[in-house]
Amino acid sequence: MKAVTNSPEETIELAKKIGRKLKNGDIIAYTGDLGAGKTTFTRGLAIGIGLGDIVTSPTFSLVNEYRANDCSSTLCHFDMYRIADSDELEAIGFFDYLSEDNILAVEWSENISDVLPESTVYIKIMRIDDNKREIEINGDERFV
Ligand code: ADP
Ligand code: MG
Repeated sequence: MKAVTNSPEETIELAKKIGRKLKNGDIIAYTGDLGAGKTTFTRGLAIGIGLGDIVTSPTFSLVNEYRANDCSSTLCHFDMYRIADSDELEAIGFFDYLSEDNILAVEWSENISDVLPESTVYIKIMRIDDNKREIEINGDERFV
């Protein structure tokens, strides 16, 4: 699927629709530069999953974990910008999160491409101008 959004609000709307279709164990891997809209998209995903408007950037924490009040699902939102090797991935608990049936959303996923499972959903966000983004979703027939 490929779409163009004309504002952050439109990106959130699109991401909400994707979020509603996500299941525990799904992995979202983003590519896209700084300011492309990866965190904005993840805000929409969280709303669609039913977690509310709670996402903030994991730039400093490296991972933010959002658990539903009824514990039905957990979204783990990663920033892999500074992750250099699998020892560091291990240290932030990535492989534990991966094995626990959480929904993962991974910014700078190109840095961990060799450990992403085959079922990964890839989302590429490209800045066209200040307010326009092209968003391409690949790897899953739910999102064609
Ligand atoms: P990233 O996580 O990729 O670094 P952010 O989501 O933190 O990006 O920031 C995206 C920035 O771009 C925000 O300031 C947002 O308001 C702005 N923006 C402008 N147009 C859009 C759009 N169509 N979709 C998403 N963000 C947009
Ligand atoms: Mg971000």
